[in-house]
Parts: sequence; structure tokens; C-alpha cells
Amino acid sequence: MTAPLAASETAPAASASFVEKRPLADYRAPAQPSLVGLPRDAVAAALGMIDVPERQRRMRAQQIWHWLYVRGAQNFDAMTTLSKELRTALKQRFTLARPEIAAEQISVDGTRKWLVRLPGEFDGAPHEVECVYIPEADRGTLCISSQVGCTLNCSFCHTGTQRLVRNLTAGEIAGQVVLARDRLNDWTPTSEQHVTLAGGDERRTRLVSNIVMMGMGEPLYNFEAVRDGLNVVADGEGLSISKRRITLSTSGVVPNIARAGAEIGCMLAVSLHAVTDELRDQLVPLNRKYRLRELLDACRNYPGVSNARRITFEYVMLKGVNDSLADAKALVRLLKGIPAKINLIPFNPWPGTKYECSDWEQIEKFSEIVFNAGYASPVRTPRGRDILAACGQLKSATEKLSARERLTLRAMAMTD
Ligand code: SAH
Ligand code: SF4
Repeated sequence: MTAPLAASETAPAASASFVEKRPLADYRAPAQPSLVGLPRDAVAAALGMIDVPERQRRMRAQQIWHWLYVRGAQNFDAMTTLSKELRTALKQRFTLARPEIAAEQISVDGTRKWLVRLPGEFDGAPHEVECVYIPEADRGTLCISSQVGCTLNCSFCHTGTQRLVRNLTAGEIAGQVVLARDRLNDWTPTSEQHVTLAGGDERRTRLVSNIVMMGMGEPLYNFEAVRDGLNVVADGEGLSISKRRITLSTSGVVPNIARAGAEIGCMLAVSLHAVTDELRDQLVPLNRKYRLRELLDACRNYPGVSNARRITFEYVMLKGVNDSLADAKALVRLLKGIPAKINLIPFNPWPGTKYECSDWEQIEKFSEIVFNAGYASPVRTPRGRDILAACGQLKSATEKLSARERLTLRAMAMTD
């Protein structure tokens, strides 16, 4: 195992701070399978592999579940409600390894971006994805990834320039939440720790309260792993993040939208970005396969959709491309009858892109039309731009940028 990164900072840095990236050569894939992030029945099956009698498996799995997801146990020795023999048997066969944080960047606004290493295929170099934590006054949102790279090539998205390397497993998807709670020290204290903290500033609210599946990859092209991983994250006896606080963003994989509603039951966000098929074909090429009308029908019929559970439509503001006031009016017409929220996202630039972010005045005018039509239309404030953690800027070193490109990008983001 590699040594942990230096102690985390508690307050946002005055300027963006970067923790030295761990050399790739230091990476060691866990030698044994990890139980972290596995669905409950897989934990019970693992117990079967070390000869725990069938009638005990559910209860033992339940105990392990509690240690893993309520207490944040990082080793089997911490699981004091299990017998010593069982702990030894578990240790010989399994680990509690999380995906590894290879580097951490902390933005001036408190946003943290972690470069997360995952085992490579056939024991090759590790794969890397990014995971971003965004603290706000009333919530803390963790943006997690579903794939290394992406098969789709949305023309304004940086991740889209990186080919798909592989899908994440369910364990790696839930594992990102576990590693964020580790890093932020966001676990439920034990009763002894309660006593120690009682006189001080005991923190009862969770730092990671919301999940958005808006990192790298198209989650509905990795459906089973995303479903199983998110069901671990939402489990009320474990990580316990309610499905109303989990939002999955899709570029429009129509056949899996209804499945997401039925089998995951989380909130849905749709990357719309254009109001005509003609323009959407250019921005989100998947539109050539699933047209706007089919996409909007799938949204209308999304299981559980209501005024209290609205679908979020994401709309990236691209100067001179999709930001006219006629577009705003057409957007409002298009979404008529769908319980919707509209999220206007200022375009985040990256080196080599042909797009520019709309002018602020234009975004305001656009937003006013949407607002006057009765939609709350928050413009998503870009967070963590100085550390390239904002939407669409994620691209891991699995296909590396040169140092110079990174610097250019950082400069663009800071002055923007
Ligand atoms: N693949 C999924 C989820 C990941 S992208 C999807 O496309 O929905 C998360 C959001 O960031 C999407 O709405 C995406 O369109 C948006 N995005 C991508 N690149 C962007 C950029 N450069 N600036 C702003 N938003 C971007
Ligand atoms: Fe993939 Fe989403 Fe980026 Fe499109 S916007 S390339 S679907 S990550």
C-alpha cells in the first residue's frame, strides 16, 4: 500500500493548491479483491468463499456493511463486532482498498479535484478518472465518473476528445464516494469519538450530501455498474444518500432512460444544449441516433417525474451557436408540459476548442426569458475553474496534456 497523502486542509486555500502527483510507478493494484462498493449480495457471496455458514452470511454481511459505510472502516481489524477468526479469514482473502487518490487540487473557492487511480487492465498502467467535490452553504456535492473517457464526442466537451478506455465497476463508482468521505473525514464518529467531540464543534451534517453523475463518461452506456454502484450509495443502512439527492446526467441514451427511472430511481439530468435536431446533431452527435422528439418523450414518461421531482435540462451557453433569444423562446416551447428545471452552464473552455462562452449579458437575457416562462433558471456558477474541475474540463492523464497545455488552460480559466 502506498502512504496516504499529506493531511487535508480544512479551509480553502488563498490560491489554488496542488498536492504533488504520486509517480505512476508507485501504483500497486490491490493484490486481493476489495469488498468496497460491492452490492450486499456480493458481500454475502464473498463470505461464502471463506466458508461462513449460509445461515450467518446475511447477518455478517450486514455488520460488515455498517463498518464500511457508516463508520468508514479502512481495515478489518476495526470491525470489532466480528470475531477475531472471521477478521483473520477476511484479511487473508480480501481487502478494503478504495480507488487511490493520486493527486489533489484545491481551488480558491474550496472545490477539490481528485485524480483517482484505478487498476489498469491486464496489470498494465493504472487508469485515471477525476472526481470533484463542490462545497456550498447548504450542501456538498460530489461529482463522480462512470467511465475512463467516453465513446461519444460532444463537440464542446473535453472528455469527449479522450477515447473510451474502459467502464468503471460498481465498486469503483461507489468507491469514489467512500474515498471522498475518507479524505474529508466525513464518517459517523464512534461513541467514544462523540464524547471527545461533544464539547467542541461536532459536525452533524454530512459534507458529502449530494451526488451528481456528471464526471467523465456517459453513465447510461455503463448501465448495470452505474445502477449497482448508485444503489450501494443510496442504501439507507450504509452511505445513505437519498435518491432524491443523486442526479444522473445523460447525453440522451433514450432506451436506458426508462430503465434508470425503474431500476435506480434517481433524479435525471439531460444534456440538451440545442433546440433543433440540426444543431444538436453537431453538438451532441448521439442525437443522430436518438432524435430530440424521442428524447423528450422519454423525459415526459420518466418514472416518478412530477413537479416535485423535475428533470434538469442542461444547456451549455456557446457564443453565437445556441444562445440567441429565439433559442431561449424555442427552448421554453420545447419543454412545455415536462416538469423541468433549466440549468444554463457557461461554457468552460479548453485548449483547442472552437467554442467560446456566451457573453455574460447574453446569458442574463437568455435566462430572463426562461425565468419569465416560469422556470427557475439558475446559471451554474463555474466552480473550480482554476483547477480545471468545471463541467466538461475533466480529462484524465490516461491521455496526458503537456505541462504547457495545462498552463494555457489554467490561465484561460482564471482570466475568463
Ligand atoms: N456524459 C454525461 C455526463 C457527463 S458531462 C452527459 O453528457 O450528460 C456533464 C455535463 O457537463 C453535461 O451536461 C455536459 O454537456 C456538460 N459539459 C461538457 N463539456 C462542457 C464544457 N466544456 N463546458 C460546460 N459544460 C460542459
Ligand atoms: Fe461524453 Fe457527456 Fe462529454 Fe458528451 S458531454 S462527450 S456524453 S462526457
